[in-house]
Amino acid sequence: MDGDVLCVGQNPPAATMAGPFEEKGPSLRVSARGEGPKAVTSTVAIVWPCPLGVDEYAAAGRDVEVPRPTCPSCAKPMIIWSGYPRTVRAGDDRLIWVRRSKCVPCRVSHCLLPAFCLLRRLYGAEAIGAALEAIIDGAVAREVADATGFPYTTVRDWRRRHRERAPVLAAGFAALAVELGAGAPELAAVPERAALQALDRAWAVARSRFDAVPGRWRFWSVVSGGEALGTTTHTPWISVGGRRLIPPVP
Ligand SMILES: [Zn+2]
Repeated sequence: MDGDVLCVGQNPPAATMAGPFEEKGPSLRVSARGEGPKAVTSTVAIVWPCPLGVDEYAAAGRDVEVPRPTCPSCAKPMIIWSGYPRTVRAGDDRLIWVRRSKCVPCRVSHCLLPAFCLLRRLYGAEAIGAALEAIIDGAVAREVADATGFPYTTVRDWRRRHRERAPVLAAGFAALAVELGAGAPELAAVPERAALQALDRAWAVARSRFDAVPGRWRFWSVVSGGEALGTTTHTPWISVGGRRLIPPVP
């Protein structure tokens, strides 16, 4: 069983704001730097298929409604409990409120991250995904950075992480597509392209079977538990039997 999961709060210095948030460990960090919105990540999250736009979500503030999830360990309904502020960059920076849920019997809390976020990434999933797709289609990171205004080092890091993760992503999304009833997808020999093809296959079949499937890059985040570009060796893939694939929208 997982231990208590704490959300990690940090105020990153301005120089790191453009890059991924570095996980500092499962303890609360209070920065001495007093300025700027608090950027908060968690070690474990449930990514839910939020249907709201980022602006709409941000505008709801602490009143944002989230599905009441069941505990991944014991399957009992969890309580919505507190939350924390977090910045997401989607065009401009938005300060959003991330709900937390808690399983009382298991004494475990989870962060309920909206699907437009990836864990430990400042930029939204859709911005990151579009940049990766451009690179997979032949652009170089510098061109993507110039076209989007994103820092080159940030785009380069996304590309590097995606390249490292691509075999796992391709295998995971291909397996999900098969589990959802599609034939095994034919995948390109280049892992990064294969990862995108497998994502597309799984997304298409999910949309054919379920209502309220989020957009492609949100689906990418939901299915990978926000760890599409993560470093964890344990990727919380969601199977067709998993309750977290399409939880009820409030
Ligand atoms: Zn539980």
